[in-house]
Amino acid sequence: MYRESATVRRVSQSLSRNPERDLLADLTEPQREAVTTTEGPLLVLAAAGSGKTRVITRRIAYLVGIGVPPWSICALTFTNKAAGEMRERAEHLLAGAGERSMRGLTVMTFHALCARLLRRHAEESGIAGLKSDFAIYDTSDQTAVVKRVIGDLGLTTKNWPVASVRAAISRAKNDLMDASAYTAGAGDFASKQVAKIYTAYETAMRRAGAIDFDDLLLLTARMLRENDQVRRACNQRWSYLMVDEYQDTNHAQFLIAGALAGENNPNICVVGDPDQAIYSWRGADISNILEFEERYPNARTIALGENFRSTAPILAAADRLIKHNVERKDKPLFTSRAGGEKPTVVLCRDERHEGDVVADFLRLHAENGIAWKSMAVFYRTNALSRVIEDALRTSAIPYTIARGTAFYEREEVRHALAYLRVIANPADDVALGRIVNTPARGIGKTTLAALEDRGAALRVPLFEAMRGVQDTPGLTQRAGAAVGRFVELIDGWTGAGTFMGASVAGTLHDLVERVIKESGLEKHYDGQAKASGLASDEERLDNLSELVSSARAFEDEFDPTADPAAEFEIGDGAQAVLADAPPLLAMLRAFLESVALVADADAVDPEQGAVTLMTLHAAKGLEFACAAMIGLETGMLPHSRAAESPSDMEEERRLAFVGITRAMQHLLMTSARYRTIRGVTERMIPSRFIEEIGEDLVRLSDQMGGGYETGEQEWSSGATRRGVTGGSVGDMPAVPRPTVSASGFKAGMLVRHPQFGLGEVLSVQGGSNARAQIRFRQVGVKTLVLEYARLKRADG
Ligand code: ATP
Ligand code: MG
Repeated sequence: MYRESATVRRVSQSLSRNPERDLLADLTEPQREAVTTTEGPLLVLAAAGSGKTRVITRRIAYLVGIGVPPWSICALTFTNKAAGEMRERAEHLLAGAGERSMRGLTVMTFHALCARLLRRHAEESGIAGLKSDFAIYDTSDQTAVVKRVIGDLGLTTKNWPVASVRAAISRAKNDLMDASAYTAGAGDFASKQVAKIYTAYETAMRRAGAIDFDDLLLLTARMLRENDQVRRACNQRWSYLMVDEYQDTNHAQFLIAGALAGENNPNICVVGDPDQAIYSWRGADISNILEFEERYPNARTIALGENFRSTAPILAAADRLIKHNVERKDKPLFTSRAGGEKPTVVLCRDERHEGDVVADFLRLHAENGIAWKSMAVFYRTNALSRVIEDALRTSAIPYTIARGTAFYEREEVRHALAYLRVIANPADDVALGRIVNTPARGIGKTTLAALEDRGAALRVPLFEAMRGVQDTPGLTQRAGAAVGRFVELIDGWTGAGTFMGASVAGTLHDLVERVIKESGLEKHYDGQAKASGLASDEERLDNLSELVSSARAFEDEFDPTADPAAEFEIGDGAQAVLADAPPLLAMLRAFLESVALVADADAVDPEQGAVTLMTLHAAKGLEFACAAMIGLETGMLPHSRAAESPSDMEEERRLAFVGITRAMQHLLMTSARYRTIRGVTERMIPSRFIEEIGEDLVRLSDQMGGGYETGEQEWSSGATRRGVTGGSVGDMPAVPRPTVSASGFKAGMLVRHPQFGLGEVLSVQGGSNARAQIRFRQVGVKTLVLEYARLKRADG
């Protein structure tokens, strides 16, 4: 079908020496089978940590090794981060095959792939009137549009809360229902109103040349279904398709994967674990696995079996927990490695106590040689991170929060990006609305409203209306002049949309820098910082510089041949033929796209040498030597949302299962008796999941009681005096009481710590969480929370 390219020849030569040894030697028999079953549909259903992701990575390398051109391979991952790692790993496996051995390989997320395919083909295939310069709207942009159309329809957000309307639209899109299909099916009053909002929302989005995350999937699925030419082009490009975390794909993704793979026994390999399906609220459901078997009746199915990640006691706890799900097929979770300690469960007094317990747990393992970067703390919702952060800061434990979106959500960065979005797509009304008078340039609310009305009347985007400002009735001359200057400003950066000419030449980061300066944003924030003298305002300027750096980094990494929208001339040299946008514009679009599609999980960076804090959802697919899961309480995990629905409860259990199975060696789970939520202190009940795992499989330490009575119990001792819920685990022995109360320590005292040995107290800060600075002979100065530090006086 294809002629061998030079690269492919080189790779095969380097591997033909011994591809088996290179790529298959350290795999188990079923893993090897999954890697070498390259032809036909293949379903790998296997437990957590059994090597599913490893199989995909190996398969890529193996395929290239046996002579398949990399540009004909497509692997779809769940995060951008995972995509990057997979590519690197595959390249590494083929080290020696030349730097460009993976040229043209497609490894990305479904969303990123869809964005590229739509840019390339939507216009020609006439899908939803989309142009190739479309913007991708995130939740907050989307909210702005929904709010506006609700108002335009004469409805109120009180009766039609934006979040629920958005959710209804999203559900419809996940079921591949566009506004007209939704309208046709709307029976009752409420759905008829939502149908109106949906329709108006779609109109506003199209006018703004914008699509949302759900559209990325919906429109791609439609395009591939309706347009034979596009589908054929994709089928010609890719002969091998792989999907990781298949259990979390939704119906649209299933259709996309099927269309990309093509007809007649395609080479499509999907791997997943139904016990880790945690995205049903995004429309993913287990039926995609049944659909796969239905669509490909002759698909081969392989189970992988052995877990290579976690110790046996951790797996035992995970296994016991997940068995409480009734909607599942049991599959054994086992490891052939012996040893390991039971997971620890600590019942804490409140969230501050919990924070200290977590900090002590992490510190203990750090002292035993585990690196910070191999540790993580998981929580159900982001709101739980703050107290943990406080505790880690106090204990001087380095940490980073996996919030990939955080940087781009800052006000100043959003403003700068809004300028760039208008440059890339002048129809982007939400972005334009954000910057038209930021910084202030004399385009007030009245002017803007008049221009918006005119745009709506002419059915053109706001920017078009601004261009025709002189024809807009009722505007003052001064306002007209201000609008005129703004249009000139934008035109100056885009060469009036041509991206040609002396004023536009330059790189992406030049452009970003110019925009920050010439828009007046820099001056604006500089003035603000000087006026307030606040470090936080100073930081805004740094963030703007950081955006320039991130553009520069993007330029360096940008590989146009990795763009799946590039067409490959099949044959020697495998030349990429790129889409025909001006290079700077193409680069800008790709940059904005990468920003729009960034996810929290993308921020996980082990290189930072810090403990990672993240949600359980973001933790999927990852692994850590040492992991803590906090907030195992009714209403937290399981989340209160699941209280009424058995199937939602099962999803919460799967989420807890995902958390447990991330831990390789040490696992801590905590539950607080009191937790302050939105300013209100509530009494909590330990999660049913703790009981479901069972006291025999964990080391349970009840430290809920007040005072030093129980507070000094060693979290690793397995001791308890009270049951989890009403005395069910009350029969374990209590540890001896502490010999010295916290307040008994003073500066100058000699003390002994079970881990750090002998030391001298330097200072004590009082309060309920008394802390002491202690200089230990062997490990130097440390700050310890006296109550949990297991300190004894050594001089008395
Ligand atoms: P999850 O369900 O969490 O996504 P997974 O099935 O994708 O897990 P991997 O992440 O591929 O599992 O593998 C888990 C760990 O086991 C990794 O550290 C991997 O390197 C290791 N591993 C997998 N297979 C083997 C093997 N045959 N020999 C040694 N280590 C292995
Ligand atoms: Mg995996």
